[in-house]
Amino acid sequence: MAVTRTFSIIKPDATKRNLTGAVTKMLEEAGLRVVASKRIQMTKDQAEGFYAVHKERPFFNDLVSFMISGPVVVQVLEGEDAVKRNRDVMGATNPADAADGTIRKTYAESIEANSVHGSDSEENAAIEIAYFFKPEEIVG
Ligand code: UDP
Repeated sequence: MAVTRTFSIIKPDATKRNLTGAVTKMLEEAGLRVVASKRIQMTKDQAEGFYAVHKERPFFNDLVSFMISGPVVVQVLEGEDAVKRNRDVMGATNPADAADGTIRKTYAESIEANSVHGSDSEENAAIEIAYFFKPEEIVG
């Protein structure tokens, strides 16, 4: 299995509860390595651009408001089959449906405030990484 990269966000519900370390520990224990990380306050424009694919969805405006309601930690994660590995440890979008031992089952508050984002494909991972990081900020 090839070593690949994916993009992760520790969302405002998790940073507010001081869970950056706890979430990162679960990512690391799942075999992922943090090769870039920064804590930022997303702007409205940045959040709308990041979630542009969802702009026709009924939850879009609430989601953007939530994502700018506090700091987030954006990360590049590296590991074998990183996209799938991260999606597996994140768990289902709705924490009520997430499997035991996943980040969302353990920490998420709701389907919106669900603690983490993770890219859903290698193609989107590359786009999302480039949205937040310059190549020199990623140190593998
Ligand atoms: N979301 C929401 N309501 C919904 C579905 C999704 O607020 O009914 C939010 C939630 O924070 C989710 C994000 O929108 O993580 C992106 O949705 P997606 O379907 O891409 O889920 P994910 O890939 O994050 O599991």
